Amino acid sequence: MADHSTCMSRSCGITVDGIVKICPQCGGFMRSSRSIRAFGWVMLICGVTAFALMGWMFRAFLAGGGAFTGTRGQALFALGGVSFLVLFLLLASVESLYMVVTGRTNRRLVRTLLLLLSVYILGIVLLGMIGNLTNLLSAFGS
Ligand SMILES: [Zn+2]
Repeated sequence: MADHSTCMSRSCGITVDGIVKICPQCGGFMRSSRSIRAFGWVMLICGVTAFALMGWMFRAFLAGGGAFTGTRGQALFALGGVSFLVLFLLLASVESLYMVVTGRTNRRLVRTLLLLLSVYILGIVLLGMIGNLTNLLSAFGS
């Protein structure tokens, strides 16, 4: 398979033949198809491991009787968090497969992944803040 290099710049992103370090169009950093493929494999292995881990946790949960000791709201919240994570892992696996097969990154997928990640982190931070607030309020109430 012939090597090619892809520009990592957000605004450029062209692909040229051969292993080129500096983009001829914008002067940005370029990554070869070989290193993108290697990175794709690492991502793929991480994704598969995460899936296996989640499956194992789910099985352990079911083996424990499947009883959720919490409110309905907490159960829904946990379910939402897990499905969000599954969606993220699925997209990450698709992106890593794309990287392994083509030796390029799919910019739209990467952007979606970064967006999902920031929404997830923001959600955790916000929920943590809300949790602290409720604790504070209940401390005042008692
Ligand atoms: Zn470029």
